[in-house]
Amino acid sequence: MAKKALKIRVRPERSRRVDKAEVEKRVKKIWPILEKTYPHAKSALNFRNPFQMLIATILSAQCTDARINMVTKVVFEKYKSAADWAKADLKQIESDIKSTGFYHNKAVSIKNASKAIIERFDGRVPDTMEELVTLPGVGRKTANVVLGSAFGKPAIACDTHVIRLSRRLGLSPNSDPVKLEFDLAEILPERIWTVFSHALILHGRRYCRARKPDCRNCPISKYCPAANNSDLW
Ligand code: SF4
Repeated sequence: MAKKALKIRVRPERSRRVDKAEVEKRVKKIWPILEKTYPHAKSALNFRNPFQMLIATILSAQCTDARINMVTKVVFEKYKSAADWAKADLKQIESDIKSTGFYHNKAVSIKNASKAIIERFDGRVPDTMEELVTLPGVGRKTANVVLGSAFGKPAIACDTHVIRLSRRLGLSPNSDPVKLEFDLAEILPERIWTVFSHALILHGRRYCRARKPDCRNCPISKYCPAANNSDLW
């Protein structure tokens, strides 16, 4: 019996390079629309100071912002400073943050980062990338969130939405968050780094969802190379 030919859908290779001038032109078109659509784009995490933002961001891995805000509302009352977290029993921290998932690793990171902040930074969260990434459990993404949202410094935090949208919008072919961060830093004016990444996150939630982007109603579809083209999603 003749074997049926197996039909394999091949996803077209995306160009590994982007034309920087083209991409900058595209950003000039889409940014005013995104800015108008999301005029108050900012982190959805609640915090009162850089230390709280650091803890909230560590907790936010693989968890929703809404859940984090519910948990931090309670734990920020209980643990008011780095010293409180540093001297707390690890098992107790785990129990307090359990509903955020990955609670063992998160508890270890929070406790050790708190200790490091006390021992090396006099109890204050450092405000440079170089120093922040020396804290246990803090990578560039977390550091960028803290720098951008808590210190008001230009910072591009590449979460899953920023990665997905940057690829669809043809801003960068890179899914690696660090490579993407450097690509975006090259094409975006520094003054919009922080707000641009927040706007992409909001746009990813509202229109450009992972599985079924709503290209029909998307306000930037005119400038998006992936609009209505599922091969590029
Ligand atoms: S047109 Fe579609 S793929 Fe492009 S940004 Fe909008 S929702 Fe996403």
